[in-house]
Amino acid sequence: MSAPKIIIAIDGYSSCGKSTLAKELARRLEYNYVDSGAMYRAITLYFLRNQVDISDHSKVLDAIANINLSFVFNDQDQRSDIHLNDENVEPYIRDMIVSEKVSEVAAIREVRSFAVGQQKRMGRKKGIVMDGRDIGTAVFPDAELKIFMTADPEVRVMRRFKEMYAVNNHISIDEVRHNLELRDYIDSTREESPLHRAADALLLDNSGLTREKQFDLVLGWVKDREPATTPNS
Ligand code: C5P
Repeated sequence: MSAPKIIIAIDGYSSCGKSTLAKELARRLEYNYVDSGAMYRAITLYFLRNQVDISDHSKVLDAIANINLSFVFNDQDQRSDIHLNDENVEPYIRDMIVSEKVSEVAAIREVRSFAVGQQKRMGRKKGIVMDGRDIGTAVFPDAELKIFMTADPEVRVMRRFKEMYAVNNHISIDEVRHNLELRDYIDSTREESPLHRAADALLLDNSGLTREKQFDLVLGWVKDREPATTPNS
């Protein structure tokens, strides 16, 4: 008999390793993993491709009305890819051109209510791990387990640089550092659900933790939060 499922909300600064942890938890617990940042990135890609003027609210609303987002399981890579109007846009959403614009787009109220509405629906049946910036504060304020992740800024820069360099060897460390600083600044100072630690979120600084140590620690937190299995449940 498996334990009743909960909602795990993971928030934190850019490139703290949120998605690595979230994916591993989802795999081990047989939960769904949702990368909420991928949704903001796909919306940003649509805005860039269609040259949507983000200072014009009616243009933003018209654009949103034409966006359909879905996560589709990719057997080959054993992960869910984000699809924008039925196109798999996973190969494009982490490009620097998207990273440079995404925090501005994600700060727009209409964009947030569109994305948050979908995210809330995905959590209806629980058994979900979602990572982002406002998951424990706005999307699932009642999540059974909330984690706020952080790590030393230089550790984050190097992690992100390695990831990006693997697909684009023209990228520089300074460019990556600048982008992380800019996104963290916009994400934590915007008016609409800014990034902050929920009062009941557990703090996880993983600068000096191995992946295994971090995972074991968090798995212990999950076990503490799972509702007890009742006989015949
Ligand atoms: O998680 P990731 O770094 O891919 O997210 C990209 C951007 O999307 C963040 O810098 C932030 O501006 C935005 N975001 C957000 N709320 C979330 C997830 C991401 O505003 N829940």
